[in-house]
Amino acid sequence: MNGGGMIDFEIHRNPQPVTATEREALLVNPGFGRVFTDHMATIRYVEGKGWYDARIEPRAPIPMDPATAVLHYAQEIFEGLKAYRRADGQLGLFRADANARRFVESAKRMAMAPLPEELFLDSIRQLVDVDRDWTPSSPEASLYLRPFQIASEVFLGVRPAREYLYVLIASPVGPYFSGGLKPVTLWVSDEYTRAAPGGTGAAKCGGNYAAGLAAQAQAMELGCDQVVYLDAVHRRFIDELGGMNIFFVGRDGNLVTPELNGSILPGITRSSIMTLARAQGRDVSERPVSIEEWREGARSGEIVETFACGTAAVLTPIGVVKSAEGEFTLGDGGTGPVTEGLRQSLVDIQYGRAPDNYGWTT
Ligand code: PMP
Repeated sequence: MNGGGMIDFEIHRNPQPVTATEREALLVNPGFGRVFTDHMATIRYVEGKGWYDARIEPRAPIPMDPATAVLHYAQEIFEGLKAYRRADGQLGLFRADANARRFVESAKRMAMAPLPEELFLDSIRQLVDVDRDWTPSSPEASLYLRPFQIASEVFLGVRPAREYLYVLIASPVGPYFSGGLKPVTLWVSDEYTRAAPGGTGAAKCGGNYAAGLAAQAQAMELGCDQVVYLDAVHRRFIDELGGMNIFFVGRDGNLVTPELNGSILPGITRSSIMTLARAQGRDVSERPVSIEEWREGARSGEIVETFACGTAAVLTPIGVVKSAEGEFTLGDGGTGPVTEGLRQSLVDIQYGRAPDNYGWTT
């Protein structure tokens, strides 16, 4: 029983874990999001009682009544973060406290009971501890952690649910780009927008991603890797990609990124890159950037690089941008030195190869 304080996790070990030999085979080339560990964390919530029944238990399907609220009205939020095998062999987390905070903000936007940040962090520490052998040690591989929360009340009325289930699963993942950094091609969606003022763009809720799939499918049909979304009001200003924030690098080496306008996700990588770039002596401004400014800047050489950033792929160079008005190339279409340098600084801190002057790693 819990309002905001701590509760202890009951640990129920998986009686039939994957054997060490099988696990090692799975860790050789895990890909992304297809291999899972032996356990999961769960916590329940009921209005009036609070959060209770915290467990580490064998990973298993979640039995659900067909009238469970999440299946109908999509009251769901999630997070994404990684545990890294550090240079000294220890396991490290990167800014997990920021994910805990964002999870609370997402819950509030979706009218869900917020999970206390300490409980979120404790679930991560406990699961990573039990499943520590699942963290790959190959370069740039990691254990991807996926916390999520669903409305578990069995009720078809349209109102905030009174019962929630929090679950944390873990998935060993390989380097996002197996063949090294490869610049991506973006499609500027003129048909679809991702988020409108007053909407859910700043929350990490499943519905945002469902709404983006048609645009993503269209981008892929047009030979592009990902969608870049324009703002919903003017259809002019760059918001972000389907799952990453965006930075523009000027000829002067300074950075510009769209400001947190309520329609874009406040990325933790975004915030880290801002700090690292400033430490390199670069100026970083947060302001609206229009598609015209981007296109003209790429043509004139005023904008020399553009990259996307997020937990999964860290920093991704953007090579070519296609839109209904034609296409343009950033620099020579390859990976620029500023993108490369910032990426290296960030992963060196995450993997414990460089000192962490910011208190980001635990
Ligand atoms: N924007 C969106 C829409 C995302 O899904 C993500 C991934 N969480 C990001 C940006 C990047 O956020 P972060 O750096 O916290 O992973």
